[in-house]
Amino acid sequence: MSTLAYAASSRTAPLAPFSIDRRAPGPDDVQIDILFCGVCHSDLHTARNEWQNTIYPTVPGHEIVGRVTAVGSNVSKFKLGDVAGVGCMVDSCQHCASCGDGLEQYCENGFTGTYNGPVFGGDNTYGGYSSRIVVKQKFVLKITHDLDQLAAVAPLLCAGITTYSPLRQWGVEKGQKVGIVGLGGLGHMGVKIAAAMGAHVVLFTTSPGKEADARRMGAAEVVLSKDTAAMAAHANSFDFILNTVAAQHDLDPFLNLLKRDCTMTLVGAPEHPHPAPNVFGLIFKRRRLGGSLIGGIRETQEMLDFCAEHGIVSDIETIAMADINTAYERMLRSDVKYRFVIDMATLAA
Ligand code: NAP
Ligand code: ZN
Repeated sequence: MSTLAYAASSRTAPLAPFSIDRRAPGPDDVQIDILFCGVCHSDLHTARNEWQNTIYPTVPGHEIVGRVTAVGSNVSKFKLGDVAGVGCMVDSCQHCASCGDGLEQYCENGFTGTYNGPVFGGDNTYGGYSSRIVVKQKFVLKITHDLDQLAAVAPLLCAGITTYSPLRQWGVEKGQKVGIVGLGGLGHMGVKIAAAMGAHVVLFTTSPGKEADARRMGAAEVVLSKDTAAMAAHANSFDFILNTVAAQHDLDPFLNLLKRDCTMTLVGAPEHPHPAPNVFGLIFKRRRLGGSLIGGIRETQEMLDFCAEHGIVSDIETIAMADINTAYERMLRSDVKYRFVIDMATLAA
């Protein structure tokens, strides 16, 4: 079925209108008319081939909220008219150990990304910068937030789960001192979610103008990461740090803030590698540097329910589809409060 979309045709081409073909829903499929799609920095990395794996033309978008407009005969989780969400994955092998553990993002045979997947061969997939998507019900999420919040719920499907999952995995709990590095799309969700978990949240930023916003979101303290004296005042004091920065930077100033045996987890995936950390900073306090990729489907539903229960949504600026190229430039200047969300009604207009 022919479907309107926006695609990049090469690393340097701006995104432009494009027509894609969506399959007719099979027995296990849910067809969703897309209402809103968040704009993740990964969309930009992919559109510009910054991870050197982009299959062109590429239709980004993996923070999708929409309305169910058809269901296959085996679909029991959704019915016509339901609101539903789709995040970063639309399939995985379903038989490896990771899939068995509900960790489809670590599928040993390679999960299928909502766009630009499967990475290791097969047909390209097209994401949420489009009017409609067809996805296996297993990979479709239930949304329980109020209907007037749907645009602000869309970013939870990637930014929300990518921060929730490591905060849970590393056991963040009430009273712990937790650092969030970078107040962008991921970082602002990290601040809100860690604060809702009861942590004492410290936001590290390179942008002096973001302090009041960070405090409103739940940060107890805000530190300008380029202020070495302010950084030194926090040495050896953190239980956990989540680093969401989208660009190459020196990790040592943050690693030095961890207590003995504690971890900084990277979720930012910059085009160019960070300089290797100072080994002595790690070994003298048995500190750890970790990484984390989105979250599994079960955990994504848990995160959506947690956010609904705690009244958490994203801070968004709604844009028209045609504004996407300007939005990318603004994202590169850290000029977004704090997630762009495309109103998909503007695609057909
Ligand atoms: P974003 O909205 O652009 O936010 C990134 C933030 O990083 C900026 O707001 C800025 O915060 C900080 N920053 C940017 N350039 C910097 C620099 N040169 N030095 C220091 N700080 C800088 O991006 P996002 O959508 O949150 O995504 C962040 C990263 O996570 C991207 O690389 C994305 O691809 C990746 N990601 C990973 C996963 C995963 O599963 N691991 C999932 C989604 C996204 P301040 O202004 O506060 O300094
Ligand atoms: Zn994303």
